[in-house]
Amino acid sequence: EAAVVRGDTIAAIATPPGEGGIGIVRLSGPEAVAVADKVFRGRVRLAHAPSHTVHYGRVVDPRTEEVLDEALVLVMRAPRTFTREDVVEIQGHGGFFVLRSVLRAVLSAGARLAEPGEFTLRAFLNGRLDLAQAEAVLDLIRARTEHARRFALRQLAGDVSQVVRGLFEEAQALRAQVELELDFSEHDEGEIDREEFLRRLEVLRRRVGDLLRGKALARLVREGPAVVLTGRPNVGKSSLLNALLREERAIVTPVPGTTRDVVTGELELAGFRFRLLDTAGLRATEDPVESIGVARARKALREADLVLLVVDGSSPLDEEDEEIARYVASLSVPTIVVVNKSDLPRRLEDRRLAELVPSSPIVFVSAATGEGLEELEDRLRLSVLGDGGWEGVLLVNERHLRLAEEAEAALAEAEASMRSGATLDLVALPLRVASERLGAILGIDVGEDLVRQIFSRFCVGK
Ligand code: GDP
Ligand code: ZN
Repeated sequence: EAAVVRGDTIAAIATPPGEGGIGIVRLSGPEAVAVADKVFRGRVRLAHAPSHTVHYGRVVDPRTEEVLDEALVLVMRAPRTFTREDVVEIQGHGGFFVLRSVLRAVLSAGARLAEPGEFTLRAFLNGRLDLAQAEAVLDLIRARTEHARRFALRQLAGDVSQVVRGLFEEAQALRAQVELELDFSEHDEGEIDREEFLRRLEVLRRRVGDLLRGKALARLVREGPAVVLTGRPNVGKSSLLNALLREERAIVTPVPGTTRDVVTGELELAGFRFRLLDTAGLRATEDPVESIGVARARKALREADLVLLVVDGSSPLDEEDEEIARYVASLSVPTIVVVNKSDLPRRLEDRRLAELVPSSPIVFVSAATGEGLEELEDRLRLSVLGDGGWEGVLLVNERHLRLAEEAEAALAEAEASMRSGATLDLVALPLRVASERLGAILGIDVGEDLVRQIFSRFCVGK
């Protein structure tokens, strides 16, 4: 366990700006209790208070004895605290001016204003959290969807750290074997069992690869799946978008070609934030504004996580429908065919449609009446949750993913060297890289600059 870093005593407002029922000024450090005592007037002196107790009293300006607020004060002594230092929380009324005056009193009593993320930084430096967990604190605060929250929470709980630590230790063990062998090779001692070594190396590489399964998912969790609506003018794309969003975001009009831009709306479904994009037509056109729209539409389609190919069920497929369908089918992006206007008599040939976009599900809906929208939403859900490759520990943090990718590549290199019978230093070197990268996920032997950079993204008070 890491030695406790003896820092000075820091303080900051821990609750968000604005008015709230309560507001908290938090202190951490060796003088936290002594500083709090200077501004607190209650029945007991906090210096005599047992750990993890709550005290009612007044907060005063220590220079003038002016009462600033009434408050509940929590005294928590090291090491059973977030920072593993003495921590005091002053819970007062949640107004900006009240909190600021309490903070000023605390600062004049000897605390220093905390830097962004400094509480969490201390928790990291004192071994209360590893770096992956500290980053999870940030991810959790920033989580905008159910899944983002879930993954951050798991990361914070240490699930990710535990798996990564196991892999790191295995990489270290393999590395030690090779390096030992290199040291002794002149004396022909400690012969490595290459078969057995290769087997372990391969297992390790595969397990690192497993963590990377989260890569695609990470983006979906972070940004939300991009769902692009396409189809010829007037099939009802904008109406469908509005129906899904239940608001007037895109412009609906009976004149073809008015949705020139890519319009975005967000739809919360199954814990994901789906980004819906309505596109202009795909046809080459003379109008320069339209043709910009067409270029954008094609780009959006290529980069989509899911395409909704919309057709009008009340009219036969025309050439433009077929053109668009063929283009979409050529993209190899998962696609749902949406036959709209199911409230009108069907004049569309389903079979022809199925031939054009084979292996894509077809859903019948009416943007006008809402019929079939639930089924469409189920399909959207399935499209991201589909393969069920969700369970187990996945990396979703960008920094972690990059490091794990580098570790995987280095392990593959070590494996290739071992297989080809290369000298052992060509195995040792990539193995060192691999174990360093895995360790860096946990914050082992990372530079101060990186740590500083990560924590600077936090807000003050965290
Ligand atoms: P877009 O060009 O594909 O975006 O099509 P719009 O959403 O602008 O709709 C074109 C026309 O079709 C409008 O007059 C809509 O009111 C109409 N429309 C859209 N969806 C439906 C539907 O489900 N049923 C019926 N009857 N009309 C619809
Ligand atoms: Zn439109």
